[in-house]
Amino acid sequence: MATGKINVSVENIFPLIKKFLYSDHEIFLRELISNATDATLKLKHLTRIGETDVTYGKPVIEVKINKENNTLHIIDEGVGMTKDEVEKYINQVAFSGAEEFLEKYKDSAKDSGIIGHFGLGFYSAFMVADKVEIITKSYKDEPAAHWTCEGTTEFTLEETTKENRGTEIILHLNEEEKEFLEEQRIENLLTKYNKFMPVPIKFGTKEK
Ligand code: ADP
Ligand code: MG
Repeated sequence: MATGKINVSVENIFPLIKKFLYSDHEIFLRELISNATDATLKLKHLTRIGETDVTYGKPVIEVKINKENNTLHIIDEGVGMTKDEVEKYINQVAFSGAEEFLEKYKDSAKDSGIIGHFGLGFYSAFMVADKVEIITKSYKDEPAAHWTCEGTTEFTLEETTKENRGTEIILHLNEEEKEFLEEQRIENLLTKYNKFMPVPIKFGTKEK
């Protein structure tokens, strides 16, 4: 009898995540808004338990379309990420920062409303985008970070400047996914998936 360890190679798994994990391309928006919501709720929790004295205010999540550049933007005012955290949470596929947060704060965070679980949702962005950028500034006093990836296992990560705390995800939409540049399409998705979400979503001039 032989025993051994099954070897999973990222290069092989990555296309599977991108193409087949979700049957429906449109759920990328739900995933990215869940992450923006989690980031906002994390900050809310940290201010509540006195772990940071940043002003929580009345954060919103903003969704923007830029037809000229073929980009869709999801912007939050949550915890943000340091460069090291991007390495840890984004570059490690299937490592969930949401799960880690819930584990760390246990009882005090169990009713915080944090949604994330498997550490895969973010990569659903590559179902609709050829290139994804993250521009993020942590609530901790550290420089902002800029991550880009064109859907391969290669990425770039560098320091950048960003005034406000939080994260902007920029999706450079694939030729075949241009429907997500239509206001009505996004409007309908936001209504469908995000009706009961705890953080208000701003799209165009409306708040949902
Ligand atoms: P999950 O939500 O299941 O943890 P994801 O693949 O959706 O996994 O995201 C991976 C991790 O990346 C998150 O847990 C979080 O730590 C980090 N992250 C993703 N989006 C954001 C964001 N908008 N703001 C801050 N951190 C984020
Ligand atoms: Mg998620």
